[in-house]
Amino acid sequence: MKIKLGHLYPDLLDLYGDRGNILVLEARTRWRGLDFEVQNVSLGEQIDFHALDILFLGGGSDREQNILVADLMGRVEELKAAIEDGLVVLSICGGYQLLGQYYQTAEGQRIPGLGILDLWTVAGANRLIGNVVVNLELEELAEVNSDSLSTLVGFENHSGRTYLGPGLEPLGKVIHGHGNNGEDQGEGLRYKNVFGTYLHGPLLPKNPHFADVLLKLAMERRGEAGNLTLLDDQLERLAHETVVERILAKQKKI
Ligand code: GLN
Repeated sequence: MKIKLGHLYPDLLDLYGDRGNILVLEARTRWRGLDFEVQNVSLGEQIDFHALDILFLGGGSDREQNILVADLMGRVEELKAAIEDGLVVLSICGGYQLLGQYYQTAEGQRIPGLGILDLWTVAGANRLIGNVVVNLELEELAEVNSDSLSTLVGFENHSGRTYLGPGLEPLGKVIHGHGNNGEDQGEGLRYKNVFGTYLHGPLLPKNPHFADVLLKLAMERRGEAGNLTLLDDQLERLAHETVVERILAKQKKI
């Protein structure tokens, strides 16, 4: 069995080493004796979303978002259909924002988004920067050996404030940091198998349980969920727990 991942605009959307997330998904798939293939797709290149198991969209600056939005618009109907069909999508920061209705820059220019999700983003006067700890609200966690891990940890750096329309749920609640907008404690988004988040870092090396949720959903969609065998995550767990503890200990001192 092979997991096929599409990486959209790797040359334009790769802030803060977001590509590291793909390396984690690949390693965790191969450690389970399965195959993994990455298809990189940039401006004007062909991709069949229906043939993918996972789609990855990293973060990018306003400038890069502006460059690629027309190209992405040309793919919207096919992507929408694949999402409704359960395609697993991990989108980070700028990539997350692009799935929504629009991104309004600090100068007031509205860059239209794909409009696949009812969310919108407005750039603020200052950037929201720092470590983030989120309480994850995912029922799948119980199925991926995450007994002690129910948090997500990462680093955010964005000026956009994202607001979710009625009917959309955040990925989790912020315990430390800003998250979607610094106002409502929501961080990220989950819709079907689509996940949006502001967490860079990269995210998955410090959050192996979340990586496995993505892989589990991708395998389930193929009727192969039994292939998600347990891995020895002692080091990854230690990394996660140490970072969370340190961030929260600092918070107490403030
Ligand atoms: N341009 C966006 C913002 O600053 C996205 C930045 C990012 O992907 N880190 O809000």
